[in-house]
Amino acid sequence: MKKISLVVPCYNEQEVIEIFYDEMKKTEKLFENKVKFEIIFVNDGSKDDTLNLMRKLSKNSDVKYISFSRNFGKEAAMYAGLEASTGDYVAIMDADLQDPPFLLKEMYDILETGEYDSVATRRVTRKGEPVIRSFFARCYYKLINKISKTEIVDGARDYRLMTRQMVNAVLSLKEYNRFSKGIFSWVGFRTKWLEYENVERAAGTTKWSFFKLFLYSLESIVAFSTVPLSIASVMGVLFCLASFIMIILIVVRTLIFGDPTSGWPSMTCIMFFIGGVQLLCLGIIGQYLSKTYLEVKKRPIYIIEETDMDVKK
Ligand code: UDP
Ligand code: MG
Repeated sequence: MKKISLVVPCYNEQEVIEIFYDEMKKTEKLFENKVKFEIIFVNDGSKDDTLNLMRKLSKNSDVKYISFSRNFGKEAAMYAGLEASTGDYVAIMDADLQDPPFLLKEMYDILETGEYDSVATRRVTRKGEPVIRSFFARCYYKLINKISKTEIVDGARDYRLMTRQMVNAVLSLKEYNRFSKGIFSWVGFRTKWLEYENVERAAGTTKWSFFKLFLYSLESIVAFSTVPLSIASVMGVLFCLASFIMIILIVVRTLIFGDPTSGWPSMTCIMFFIGGVQLLCLGIIGQYLSKTYLEVKKRPIYIIEETDMDVKK
């Protein structure tokens, strides 16, 4: 009998966590006793009743939970869940049932053929999402795929089923600034993509504000591309060239027409412009420096406060 571990990051999910468990019990029946589930709830510092509900659910033998000492973010929760998982296959699922459970059976069947190491999902629609958000999301995917060698698939969810081998590969990337969509792609392996229409949350509200998503997208660019740094260098070279040409022009003009004191307004404009470009480039370098700084500190990705699993606390 094969075991599938389901890693479920939860942050203030008291409305859905029990519905989620019931739904999984139903889903397990689709496998006709060929598979048993191990559900690992990761409480990412929820401020509501999520942890209590987890404790209650963990009385069932197929449920385990890990609770963080504070909110470390979904990336950290996924990492902790993957580390604790013991199944032959491991899936990552949101608690809000936006990741259709019935797909698990299909994913499992595909992995069983041995042709793939991972089955991932992507939403083909963004129904129910604010229009501006979808617009920026599309622009973001266009941009990141231009400047990153790692492919980031548009609409890709974190919802996927992976073999143990691939999970171990993902776990071997111990970076602190994690961006899983990039990591899954970076580790390689053969991935099959399933497509589905967007499903709205079963209950509760989204944990991602527009601003949080914006910061997350900047983080992913710094994590998977160094093109912004090259842009800073290229701009430097272009400005040097431009200044050489300008110096020659001005010397020639002074030699021919003398030196009337004019042109200071354009001079200040140029100074402002170049000053701005310098600050922009410094900012870009600063972004990479700050990420490097956090990375070299080698802080743990998460801290566990309480768990019923056999993992380091
Ligand atoms: N989540 C988390 N930590 C956070 C934010 C979110 O563990 O800091 C979890 C959340 O509980 C949910 C999943 O990540 O299970 C996806 O979050 P959400 O449904 O709010 O995102 P959306 O589907 O709106 O993109
Ligand atoms: Mg959701």
